[in-house]
Amino acid sequence: MGDINKLRDILGKKARLGEPLSGHTFLKIGGTSDIFYEAETTDDFKKAVVEARKLEIPITILGDGSNVLISDNGIKGLVLIDRSDKIEILDEDKEGINLKKIKKPIYRWESDKKQGTFKYEFKDLDYDESEKSRVRVQMDSGVNLPKAIDFLLDKGITGLQWYAGIPGTIGGAIFNNIHGGTHFMSEVLDSVTVLDLQGGSNTLRIEDLGVDYDKSRFQDTGEIILDATFLLFKGDVDKAKYVRFEWAKRKSLQPRNAPGCAFHNLTQEQKEKLGIPTTSAGFVIEHLLKMTGFKIGDAAISKDHHNFIVNEGKATAKNYLEVMKTIYNKAKKELGIELVPEIFLLGFSEDEIKEFRHPRQLELRKKRLYEIRTIYKDSKKLFSPK
Ligand SMILES: Cc1cc2nc3c(=O)[nH]c(=O)nc-3n(C[C@H](O)[C@H](O)[C@H](O)COP(=O)(O)OP(=O)(O)OC[C@H]3O[C@@H](n4cnc5c(N)ncnc54)[C@H](O)[C@@H]3O)c2cc1C
Repeated sequence: MGDINKLRDILGKKARLGEPLSGHTFLKIGGTSDIFYEAETTDDFKKAVVEARKLEIPITILGDGSNVLISDNGIKGLVLIDRSDKIEILDEDKEGINLKKIKKPIYRWESDKKQGTFKYEFKDLDYDESEKSRVRVQMDSGVNLPKAIDFLLDKGITGLQWYAGIPGTIGGAIFNNIHGGTHFMSEVLDSVTVLDLQGGSNTLRIEDLGVDYDKSRFQDTGEIILDATFLLFKGDVDKAKYVRFEWAKRKSLQPRNAPGCAFHNLTQEQKEKLGIPTTSAGFVIEHLLKMTGFKIGDAAISKDHHNFIVNEGKATAKNYLEVMKTIYNKAKKELGIELVPEIFLLGFSEDEIKEFRHPRQLELRKKRLYEIRTIYKDSKKLFSPK
């Protein structure tokens, strides 16, 4: 690996050596990075990438850290966060907005213990606004998604209300093509700008993004997302605000000291094999594996949502991974099914996570993607042509 100190000299004092990454994730887990840099502007972000590449220092991008488990050994090379957060409404008065001035929305609801686990419904909130006129909006990868939803609704722009209650940045949302209820980010995505190898930028159209359920080309290419242009709506703002409020309220059952769902839901074939009424991995963990209350160290299966593994305080990545592997091995041995991780595992050696790198895992992902593609076949811009 290249000269870390040289990169530090180039990036200046804001670049920190040996930064604990735990503070940059929802889980509060993770070792240190060789060098860590939070870029305040797109130019700083680009510069960090270009200089690290020149020095042959590997780069890992983090957003808000709401979908990752980072190894106790940390991450080699540069860990880079894009804090640039410009939103531009392109078709109107070309207003440039700096989101740092805006408070992050706080939703006040607590988990409702009476409702039990993961019993929330989306159907009654869903509607189609595809006939409304469109508005082009450009957002930096560092834009905070909950802030963007609120900001745009206040400007009369709808289309992101389905993602209320989901933490993270625009970069992270595109990387995983997030889903909210029956909607996917790619429905309103028009193009994405990425950094090319020379430090210039390259704009990719929606058809080229390889989007699918929890999937985009970026997971395979390692390209760095700079910004994106969305085609949002001049929709019914009151209705969208109600969805944002109500959906975030229902989703507030989900624990925040976790990186989202640990495993993908089951394939139809797995569901049928088990003879259960749902593809929910949480259902399997709760009702078939009966793992309620299972924990290793402070890494525990949440009682509020059995597909969330939470950090109750001092969990390590090793604890967390052991809980995941225990669930995986139990499901394999007792039920004959293989579960596939949904969160991104960063900084681990191939050997540490070999169960989740097996070719069968890829097969299962493909199967599930095919099924979901069939279910959501009416979504207009969901999947790129194969
Ligand atoms: C309580 C809770 C609820 C959630 N609910 C949902 C849900 O309903 N639906 C859903 O889909 N997800 C959900 N998630 C998962 C998560 O919030 C989303 O996937 C989110 O979009 C991740 O964004 P992030 O900025 O935190 O990304 P991070 O976790 O920081 O990073 C995730 C991945 O994206 C990559 N990445 C981030 N930015 C860039 C960039 N600029 N260029 C290239 N790669 C980049 C990172 O390298 C990493 O591999 C939930 C999580 C929590 C904790």
